[in-house]
Amino acid sequence: MKARNRRHAIASSDALSPKALLAYATGIRADYEKHLRELVEIPTVSADPARAADVARGARAAAALLRRLGVAASVEPTGGHPLVVGHLRSGAGFPTVTLYNHLDVQPAARADGWKTDPFRFTRKGDRYFGRGTTDDKGPALAALHGALAAHRAGVPLNVRFLWETEEEAGSTHFEHAIGRLAPRLATELVVISDGLWVSRDQPTCASGLRGWLGIELSLETGEGDAHSGIVGGLARNPLAELMQLVADLHDARSGRVKVPGFYDDVEPLTRREREEFRRSGFSIANLKAGIGIRKLRTENPREAMRRIWALPTFEVHGVVGGYSGPGSKSIVPGRGQVKASFRLVPSQHPDRVADLVTRFIKKRNPDVVVRRDAGNLPYRADVSGPFAAALRRAMTDAFGKELSFVRDGGSIGAVASMERLLGCPVLFLDLSLPEHGYHAANEYFEWSQASRGIVAFARFFAELAGPEGALAVAKRPERKRS
Ligand SMILES: [Zn+2]
Repeated sequence: MKARNRRHAIASSDALSPKALLAYATGIRADYEKHLRELVEIPTVSADPARAADVARGARAAAALLRRLGVAASVEPTGGHPLVVGHLRSGAGFPTVTLYNHLDVQPAARADGWKTDPFRFTRKGDRYFGRGTTDDKGPALAALHGALAAHRAGVPLNVRFLWETEEEAGSTHFEHAIGRLAPRLATELVVISDGLWVSRDQPTCASGLRGWLGIELSLETGEGDAHSGIVGGLARNPLAELMQLVADLHDARSGRVKVPGFYDDVEPLTRREREEFRRSGFSIANLKAGIGIRKLRTENPREAMRRIWALPTFEVHGVVGGYSGPGSKSIVPGRGQVKASFRLVPSQHPDRVADLVTRFIKKRNPDVVVRRDAGNLPYRADVSGPFAAALRRAMTDAFGKELSFVRDGGSIGAVASMERLLGCPVLFLDLSLPEHGYHAANEYFEWSQASRGIVAFARFFAELAGPEGALAVAKRPERKRS
């Protein structure tokens, strides 16, 4: 009972009430903006080799910022762009939670339609314009200041920071670096803040991601193009055979994959997941307007959410070969290629899908060469456990509306890597909004999401820590048995 009271004293101490935390955030607003300015004004464009020195400078500046705020920090080489590792120590023996963010950004130039210099931090009222403000420097700093708020209020928890600088370039070296550093990175939980809500009016966090398997199908039937007046009707046409294969692989109108066994490992949505999707604020009209897409396979919002979040796909990205210039050219092409991919959902495995698909293709057209990439595993969080319950309470406290867990149709390889190499669950605490312009011109973040994000992180840490906190509850043997 004593323990319960002590935890209660932590979780609901005056300094950790949502109101007090919001006042705390308001008090450090000038610092937050200064820190965001520092990070945004270093053009950490990881995909551009010419910006490598800026990415390295961004990592050093971030580590220096952490140190200034009392967080031990180092810049770790990875073989690619570096990784910033920070450690906010509250006490030996306290559990550790890891916050993952990335500090690299997408390319940006005035010519893309920016109204301000993308690498100048420009404040307009409560909005902060600049490349990386919402993806992902602003959320990284909200997480940092949330951790500092909890630390200062005495929450018995250590927080580690993993700030990647290669996320927008495919996280090529991340997994290897995490593997190498893993003995130093022991943690109970990883929290990622690098995602967006479905709508401004409804807090959502991703509880699942799709996996990925990229494939290239190539067919060569001649040394080069041949005249169809000479060999037409006799020569095999590689482009047409690949198109037939694509039609064999899936029904292009419905999207249904026709490879036997493809759907065997797909986990159906639970009733609770379907209900949370319904409350997510998803709208077909917003999706269409936001992306500029006109024709969909369905106009039913529930079916749409199921399709983009919870069902696997086969998509053709490009067809290479033959003639595509003006007018006609009467050739039989000598070679053709299809670039395609599968998005996978829990519990599909890219290796198993690659085997199924390759066997299917080989049976139909043994001359087609199938090349696959390494693929990514899909990810699914436990949304009924104590960590998810703590996250629900924290987000609801911070934003005044009950959190909905949704899925994200994209793939982040780093998530499965961290789950596996650090041996702990991964959760998302998302703060960006659809209108913030992820990867687009005039990207911005805003103070209401930053300040309430600080509250959400601090509340989450308070809910996790202490003898009756979610971290302790998760360790109990009676829970392990269930
Ligand atoms: Zn991001």
